[in-house]
Amino acid sequence: MKKIGFLCSGGDSPGMNCAIRAIVRTALYHNIKPVAIHQGYAGLLQGKFTPMDASSVGNIIQRGGTIIQTSRCPEFHEKKTRKKAAELLRKQKIEGLIVIGGDGSFNGAQLFSTENNFPVIGIPGTIDNDISSTEYTIGFDTAIQTAIEAVDRIRDTASSHARIFLVEVMGRNSSSIAMKVAVCTGAENVIVPKIKVDYQEIADGINRGISRGKTSSIIIVAEGEKEGRSYEIQKNLREKFQLDSRVCILGHVQRGGSPSALDRYVASHMGHIAVKALIEKKFNTVAVVKNGKVTLAPLSECLAKTDPFKEDHLLLAKILSI
Ligand code: ADP
Repeated sequence: MKKIGFLCSGGDSPGMNCAIRAIVRTALYHNIKPVAIHQGYAGLLQGKFTPMDASSVGNIIQRGGTIIQTSRCPEFHEKKTRKKAAELLRKQKIEGLIVIGGDGSFNGAQLFSTENNFPVIGIPGTIDNDISSTEYTIGFDTAIQTAIEAVDRIRDTASSHARIFLVEVMGRNSSSIAMKVAVCTGAENVIVPKIKVDYQEIADGINRGISRGKTSSIIIVAEGEKEGRSYEIQKNLREKFQLDSRVCILGHVQRGGSPSALDRYVASHMGHIAVKALIEKKFNTVAVVKNGKVTLAPLSECLAKTDPFKEDHLLLAKILSI
């Protein structure tokens, strides 16, 4: 391996820059030329390549987002487009590609690699922590911390006005963020995609809290497939139980911000191990966390979405907020 490329694809997440920095510096350490591909697969197709040196990734470890930008690229679903991408990389003498992204990006990478016999390594970057075969994805910890800080602030207002708040957190169909935020903020309840909303149980919990003198109730809502589902829950609570609530959708604030220590640490390890995987010809693998350690797993095992929802976490959140 003399020259490698790397890109970010899909949604951005805090810690991507730490992985980029680790890729560039590990490659240079091993006398490999690292090339940044801007704006994901779309940028690849447009030939947006930049050779990187050690200082080009200086002072980025603390920055959220990704300095090489990311994108969604519908054309990459077509075989002929993926063939063109391989040709463009080969023309640049790039011999291996590192893809930082979620399960969608990995599906694209898997097809691209097998159809064109092009070495690929994945790094899981998404705040949703929803990729099969890894216990952790870069950005999750920072997103949780951001959401916790927001909920703490909302609690101040909720307590001052004796209000019920529905706070909607990101995570698509993954309940990871919602579960952890609920436990860490002492939320009165949590609504996750896997479990049907039990309005009676929610209302009973709120009323129980009020009768024992609670000044506020916070219910964490996992966004599920569609952002804004909290409004329907709000409507039902009002119409069926005469409980008035406020909705706060945290949205994209959860995606930004300076990466936490955990995200910096894991992303740095993943960037390093990804380059080493290319050097050692451990192609078509993904840097994952298994039993708390950064290691490699086959790319084919990381293509599915997973929801690390645990019934006992839900119970914990509920027991601790009685
Ligand atoms: P994420 O990687 O965060 O899950 P997306 O699902 O939006 O984000 O995927 C990012 C990009 O990866 C898509 O815009 C597309 O270019 C590529 N991609 C996703 N799924 C596939 C697929 N099945 N085949 C080919 N390319 C795909």
